[in-house]
Amino acid sequence: MKADLALKNCRIWRKKRLTKTGLVIDKGKIVSITKSRLPPSKKRIDCKGGIILPGLIDVHVHFREPGLSHKEDWVTGSRAAAKGGITYVMDMPNTIPPTLTLRDLFDKKALAKKSVVNFGLYAGISQKNLNDLKELSGQAVAFKLFMGKSTGDLALDDISLLLKAFTNVAKTKKVLCVHAENEKMNKYFYKDYKKRTDPIAFARARPPESEVLAINDAIELAKQTDVKLHICHVTTKDGLTLIKRAKKNKVDVTCETCPHYLFMTEDDMREKRTLVKMNPPLRTERDQKALWKGIKTGKIDILASDHAPHILQEKYQNIWFAPSGVPGVETSLQLILNAVNKRMVKLERVVELMHDNPIKRFGLGSYGDIEVGNDANLTVIDLKKGWEISREDLLTKCGWSPYEGWEGKGMPVMTIVNGRPI
Ligand SMILES: [Zn+2]
Repeated sequence: MKADLALKNCRIWRKKRLTKTGLVIDKGKIVSITKSRLPPSKKRIDCKGGIILPGLIDVHVHFREPGLSHKEDWVTGSRAAAKGGITYVMDMPNTIPPTLTLRDLFDKKALAKKSVVNFGLYAGISQKNLNDLKELSGQAVAFKLFMGKSTGDLALDDISLLLKAFTNVAKTKKVLCVHAENEKMNKYFYKDYKKRTDPIAFARARPPESEVLAINDAIELAKQTDVKLHICHVTTKDGLTLIKRAKKNKVDVTCETCPHYLFMTEDDMREKRTLVKMNPPLRTERDQKALWKGIKTGKIDILASDHAPHILQEKYQNIWFAPSGVPGVETSLQLILNAVNKRMVKLERVVELMHDNPIKRFGLGSYGDIEVGNDANLTVIDLKKGWEISREDLLTKCGWSPYEGWEGKGMPVMTIVNGRPI
């Protein structure tokens, strides 16, 4: 019997190094990894020396369906992910309706059947479902809690409610992901800055201190409750310092940052204005430097896109009305591979940030690992291939990117999901 697919002339990322070899896939599984002649197969692809990585994972996307599918849906979002070398996405709960009940999770799962990549769904936490978290945990990949307001209104900022949320998530053994901004501090600064209309005023109205305060609270609550805490999109040097210290003190905390905080600063707001409005906002070079250090040293565990698409018509409003968020699921990998080429970070770290740490943290078993018998979820990259980001090439439904016109080298060339090349 012929196998479904053979990949020849590839280099495989395994046990933290590259090995020249061929790979055979049948019925969705890796059936052979071999240096000798490949057996006959129905389809054969010459990887031309391309590097096969474990299937990469994006732990933070907003695919907007149900309810906001004019911005993105499971078809367009997942195709954009596959194009960006992502084989598995974890979708956030702030849709309409928000994903708060078992019914919501099942409904979203039915919609997500259209997805061309694998997925997990977050359950959101609100005042209404604090007692239902145990039953939700069977269907949700993890929980998401908004300590500050963002798209949708799931903010929980009362300390007794937070304590209850942390306690009840701890009982489920799932990871609690928090959007860490202090709602009350933001409110205080909004009052002052709302008189201004320039984009920087928005960044000032959600200051770094707001994130630092919220991270501090979240860590203290994690200490008390033993919850597995994950801080989403860390943007500040001081926030990262708190996380590093907590890790040293054996608090079970991990964190992620996003490409936009690594590749842009608040200066980009002057030119790109509302297009790069996001929560938390872009920060200064001081913070950006600290994030890069965290990426290089492993103090930041995960790189996630926080793919948060809005259509241009919505983004082109004044700074206070325009919605927050930028698309990114299809550009994360090429941006970070370009950084690999510039020796800003090692490929080994990229695999840790986008595969090893996500599977470890979120309990995804051996997902994506390149081993015989495992499901074939693979990301093939070409480190030498040049790129320029242009609107015409994008697959996200929102149809734009904050990186349009950017050029670089190193990109995904093929994504294999459950044995199928996409
Ligand atoms: Zn988000």
